[in-house]
Amino acid sequence: MTDWHGRAAALYDGGFRPMFIAGQWVAGRGVAGRAEAVIEARNPATGALLATVPRGTAADIDAAVAAARAAFEGPWAKFTPFERQALLLRIAEKFEQNWETLCLSDTLDMGMPISRTLANSRRVLGMLRFYAGQAVAIHGQTIPNSFPGEILSQTVKEPVGVVGAIIPWNAPIAGSVWKIGPALATGCTVVLKPSEEASLTVLLIAKLMQEAGLPDGVLNIVTGTGAEAGAALAAHPGVDKIVFTGSTATGQAIARAATGNLKRVSLELGGKSPVIVCRDADIDKAVPVAAMAVFANSGQICIAGSRLFVAREIHDEFVRRVGEFAAGLRIGNGIAPETELGPIISARQAERVESFLQAGPAEGAALVTGGARLEGAGFEGGNFIAPTVFGGVTDDMRIAREEIFGPVISALPFDTLEEVVARANATPYGLAAGVFTTHLGTGHKLARRLKAGSVWVNMYHAIDPAVPFGGVKMSGYGREGGLEHLDEYLDTKAVWINTD
Ligand code: NAD
Repeated sequence: MTDWHGRAAALYDGGFRPMFIAGQWVAGRGVAGRAEAVIEARNPATGALLATVPRGTAADIDAAVAAARAAFEGPWAKFTPFERQALLLRIAEKFEQNWETLCLSDTLDMGMPISRTLANSRRVLGMLRFYAGQAVAIHGQTIPNSFPGEILSQTVKEPVGVVGAIIPWNAPIAGSVWKIGPALATGCTVVLKPSEEASLTVLLIAKLMQEAGLPDGVLNIVTGTGAEAGAALAAHPGVDKIVFTGSTATGQAIARAATGNLKRVSLELGGKSPVIVCRDADIDKAVPVAAMAVFANSGQICIAGSRLFVAREIHDEFVRRVGEFAAGLRIGNGIAPETELGPIISARQAERVESFLQAGPAEGAALVTGGARLEGAGFEGGNFIAPTVFGGVTDDMRIAREEIFGPVISALPFDTLEEVVARANATPYGLAAGVFTTHLGTGHKLARRLKAGSVWVNMYHAIDPAVPFGGVKMSGYGREGGLEHLDEYLDTKAVWINTD
């Protein structure tokens, strides 16, 4: 059996971890021994200090963008698509060899249970291999035109250039590979700013990529805060495109900051996703899936199906059973292989979730299970919140309107399909939706009418490298995964040739 505790102690000892610019591991311009110039990485399950990382500044972003530009115009530009493919495959291999270490790092740094991080391998390794496949399939077209004579018109696909990537803390491995993979496939270079709450695994990813032969400057990691390093990256005139995953409010700030040089932007933002359980649903199968649509990663998932619409005829039974399921989940330090739910990322985020636990009953919702912070043996020093189910929720309550990003389900009864579609769509967000029904026609009908980037019928959470993922409305624009994804990193150039 793996000695996870022993491996954890060997992986992070509280020491300083530099960031990665131009192929060098650097302290950053702001550090120079100043305590306020580093960020502490703490284990959210115990509060223990894992490491410190530089609090990168605008000057560090300048250096990283310059390195990315030099690589883009220099040696990286000479890589053929087949060489980029080979590199991506070597990186996938490297990740596979070091998979347990990567997963352990994530568990320590952001709390996701090790059982869950290990299970994410198919998606992340699959992503890298999917982009490796795509790298050699990028091509333009020869297009007939209306000009008389021998005029040839063609399109050529070219990399957009230097990509600024900004990611949140809730899925550092998949989140960074989803940005770096397509950049390497298309020939772009990257400056990535991880979340100040979870930088360590992203630094580890850069180290593994370097070992796999990534040329200097192709990937640069600047750790730091959103207000400082993130804002500098979003506004930087040397960046050609920003890809962002995070909250809607930050996405709006980034879109505004990007106007300076009209850089391209794609945004994967927040959600308040509906899950609709029809009266003909297979209840036994739907209960655990609907519950984990929220409780996976302790609710810290953008696609959390946090509005649970249940047909009135089965509402009470269904909500009771979701409550029982929630109460039976094993919560604790994610390093224990049996843990199903880990901590909330930070004390600040836990307080935010607690404010919703208070707002629910204050606005008239009925607490079915949970509803409080977990304290005492096994929870010392960590930010743990019991998986919570509220019944009797109405559409106007805060818990039914706002993204909580914590383990909280709001159950709402409905009477007709017409009504539930209108209510499910009555949100500024449009990231995901779920439907449970045994009637094929109902599943198809609802899938078409729900305004969301992904709709799952009789399942939830499926995300695949080959299938596009993203939002509509205030959940953002642009897609990750699928063939559309590469277009986000490519410009189309028209080339005209008079062959007469
Ligand atoms: P956040 O928006 O606070 O931070 C995300 C990243 O943006 C961090 O790296 C942060 O440092 C940076 N940032 C903050 N302010 C910035 C600014 N002014 N300019 C540039 N960068 C800035 O989000 P979070 O709390 O880390 O993550 C939770 C949010 O992310 C939730 O709303 C969740 O729904 C969303 N999310 C969406 C997806 C998706 O794919 N749609 C996936 C995961 C998380």
